[in-house]
Parts: sequence; structure tokens; C-alpha cells
Amino acid sequence: MLKGKCALVTGSTSGIGLGIAQSLARQGASIVLNGFGDVEGPKAQVAALGVKVGYHGADMSKPADIADMMGYAEREFGGVDILVNNAGIQHVAPVEDFPVEKWDAIIAINLSSAFHTTRLAIPSMRRKNWGRIINLASTHGLVASAQKSAYVASKHGIVGFTKAVALETATSGITVNAICPGWVLTPLVQKQIDDRAAREGIPVEKARVDLLAEKQPSLQFVTPEQLGELAVFLVSPAADNVRGAAWNVDGGWAAQ
Ligand code: NAD
Repeated sequence: MLKGKCALVTGSTSGIGLGIAQSLARQGASIVLNGFGDVEGPKAQVAALGVKVGYHGADMSKPADIADMMGYAEREFGGVDILVNNAGIQHVAPVEDFPVEKWDAIIAINLSSAFHTTRLAIPSMRRKNWGRIINLASTHGLVASAQKSAYVASKHGIVGFTKAVALETATSGITVNAICPGWVLTPLVQKQIDDRAAREGIPVEKARVDLLAEKQPSLQFVTPEQLGELAVFLVSPAADNVRGAAWNVDGGWAAQ
């Protein structure tokens, strides 16, 4: 379905981003990976699916790095057809103790980076009159939790950004949507489970169950594979008129 298309997934060396990259690769898209940590492992996993894979190590908090990455995708892959804004970080603290540099980093990586990739991707999408932009928001783009002021602000922000750009592109072949996952068991969430276990002096397994029970009625983690398959639907022709949606996949979290 996606042969001849290039998908750039930010923050795709781990977790949800890697899962989405693999789902798009299974449909034949070339993939540009991005993110920190081990790069060779994720590259090999995606290449094993038989598609061309590239990597750019842009720090998504840095607009100049982002511009360089978009230039790389243009030169090496003929431009970005499918843009998945996924890179994200978390920090948990009451607002009066929230470190200023953490606030700035969360807004830069979770929100402003999507502005930069989007503004740089849209001109070539307009020339082709086809494009798909998928922003990884969160249930925290729809509802809040205490101690996550920066994350909640960034995720509500990205839902608003998604709607605004969806309207600007509404008469074109470019669609823009957000996915709002509940808990997914990735390193980002494992850290919160470990912190909870340490804070409450309970086993990690109990902290994991408590974390789910507090918010996610299904009592099951959402998986990167499930989010990858939703991304595949959102890039398909069946989703041509899904525009500006904030689609929750959250085991019922936001229904409460
Ligand atoms: P993760 O920690 O497993 O992966 C984050 C990825 O982003 C990694 O590849 C990391 O290297 C990359 N990254 C971090 N900072 C970066 C930077 N400055 N520049 C470039 N890359 C950077 O996290 P995840 O759980 O897979 O989260 C992915 C996205 O999904 C995030 O936007 C997150 O907010 C969102 N999300 C996660 C959950 C969850 O439960 N895990 C729920 C809702 C939304």
C-alpha cells in the first residue's frame, strides 16, 4: 500500500515510534528513523522488513537540527510523505517545584518540534497533493493528571495544533490527525512505575497494576503494535476524510 512513500518517525529508536515505523514498513514505506540510544538495533529491525531505512540523529529540541533532518529526508528519500511526530519526554513534579529547564525541554520536544517538522514538510506534500501527518498526543491531550503540568500542556497543545493544521489543509490531499494513547508499557512509563515502587516502597509488579487501575479501565496496556495499526489506517485511502481527529486508544481512560 505504501510502496514509493517515505515515512519519517521522530523518536523511533524505542517504544511507540519504533512500533509505528515497523507497521508502516510492513506496508512498504521507506523509513527515516530518529532518536537517541541504540540506533543499529532498530535500523536492523526495520530493514528486516525489506524497505529502505535511513536515520538522522536530530535533537528534537533544536530547530536547526530538525531543519537538517528534513533536508536529509528530502535529499535521500525525495521528501517526507508521512510525518509521524512522536518524540516525547515526561517529567513528574508539582508545578511550584517544576524545574524550569524541564518545562522548556518538554514544550520544545513534545510540541514545538512538531511545528518545525510540519512547517518544513507541508510544501513538498502540497506539491504532491498528498501527505499524512500523525501527531502522538496522549490521553493527557484530552484530560489532565496532577504533577504533569508541562506534559499535559504540551499534549493539549499538540491536539490544538493538529486541528489548526488540519483546517489549513482541509481541501488538499494532506490529512493531519492526532493519536491519544493511554498507558503503553515503554521506557517512558516504566520509569514512572519504578519511581512509584520506590516512592511507595512496594514491588514493581504491584506499582504496575496500581498504575493501570488508577486510570485505565481495561487494566491492560495499549501496545505499540495496536498504535502502529491505527497509523496504517490513518494513512490509508479509507481515512481520506479523517481530519483533525484526536483519536483515543486508552482502554476507556477518557470515557470516565
Ligand atoms: P520512549 O521513551 O520509549 O521513546 C521516546 C523516543 O523519543 C525515543 O526514541 C527517544 O530517543 C526519543 N527522544 C527523546 N528525546 C528526544 C530528542 N530530544 N530528540 C530526538 N528524539 C528524542 O517513549 P514512548 O512511550 O514510546 O513515547 C512516544 C510518544 O508517545 C511520546 O510523545 C509520548 O508522550 C507519547 N505517549 C506515550 C504513552 C505511554 O504510555 N508510553 C502514552 C501516551 C502518549
